[in-house]
Amino acid sequence: MRRLAVSILLTALLLSGCGAQMSPDEAQESIQVLAMDTAMLITTYGERSPAAAYACEDAIRDLEKQLSRTDPDSEVSRLNASAGEPVEVGEDLGVLLELAKYYHGSTGGAFNIAVAPVVSAWGFTEDSFQVPSQAELDGLLELVQGPSYIGPRSSGGTICYSLGPGQAIDLGGIAKGYAADKIVKVLQEHDVPRANINLGGNVLAYGDRPDGTPWRVGIQDPARADEQNAFAGVLALTDSFAVTSGGYQRYFEEGGKRYHHIIDPSTGYPADSGLTSVTVVAGLGGGDGFPGTMCDAYSTALFIMGEEQALAFWRDETQRGEQGCPFELVLVTEDGRVVVTPSLADRFTLEETSGYTLEVVPS
Ligand code: AMP
Ligand code: MG
Repeated sequence: MRRLAVSILLTALLLSGCGAQMSPDEAQESIQVLAMDTAMLITTYGERSPAAAYACEDAIRDLEKQLSRTDPDSEVSRLNASAGEPVEVGEDLGVLLELAKYYHGSTGGAFNIAVAPVVSAWGFTEDSFQVPSQAELDGLLELVQGPSYIGPRSSGGTICYSLGPGQAIDLGGIAKGYAADKIVKVLQEHDVPRANINLGGNVLAYGDRPDGTPWRVGIQDPARADEQNAFAGVLALTDSFAVTSGGYQRYFEEGGKRYHHIIDPSTGYPADSGLTSVTVVAGLGGGDGFPGTMCDAYSTALFIMGEEQALAFWRDETQRGEQGCPFELVLVTEDGRVVVTPSLADRFTLEETSGYTLEVVPS
């Protein structure tokens, strides 16, 4: 049975409406977009809010056309079908391939877009779910763990990439974050003072709320994924991305077991790390110019790593960052804890009725 976390979609907006009084004079446009296999909600404010909201939708649809694995005409599909031949790629795919290469290295291989053949073997690409045999997984893992895509190569003024025979890429773990980065540019171009964008678990809290307080972004309780507004806690955010990965967002069940869509590239199996969700939070100025993309890649990778490795990764990155920490974390664990990094302590409120225990990582 397929599950889309439709409940996530309403989270940011619903919360934006509680509590404080909105300015009645501020124009607002809110549109729902079904794209990238998820339900998205775009809410923009200010005089140019309608034009801005529809320009955000255009940006998402334009990216989807290039990056979809199920559209045979997309650039990604052409690359995946190229059987080793170089394929010309446009600027967006070129940038994403380079970013993905970087995140693959920085996460020690946990983030790996070459996991595509394994994602397909589990049926997550075409919604035809099945548990693959170990022999099939062993064969596919050679493609995933082997040398990655080759490029960029310049050929007659165009940029080309190639994959090894049988290899394929899946940008599902990073495309929405990249779309969110592009949306920031659209909002800036339209002089939008504030916006609340939810791309199915990828939230962009742009500016602050009309009453000057931070946006309130709910972290879905993974144990109550079917319930709307069932939160583990709420983040108060301004000019930030908050991107959540969790096994509850997409899964099927067979033989009484649940199999989700985030694949550990070292085993070929859905990650089983003791975490039920990971939220990565970053300001608009972080992530080397791509903070939304970084949050998306790292939420996927840290979910695979598990608590201990994820916090070690966070510590290393904190120490490496020249201008303070580039990102913060909210980890929800299988054993009933919500673990937050110290800078989020005063921006995170545990949902009292959730039953979780809050732990703040020592600084
Ligand atoms: P997210 O919801 O951002 O965590 O991304 C999950 C999606 O990323 C899956 O549905 C797959 O399309 C893809 N994916 C699964 N495992 C990995 C992985 N280890 N590295 C990169 N992408 C992955
Ligand atoms: Mg991701």
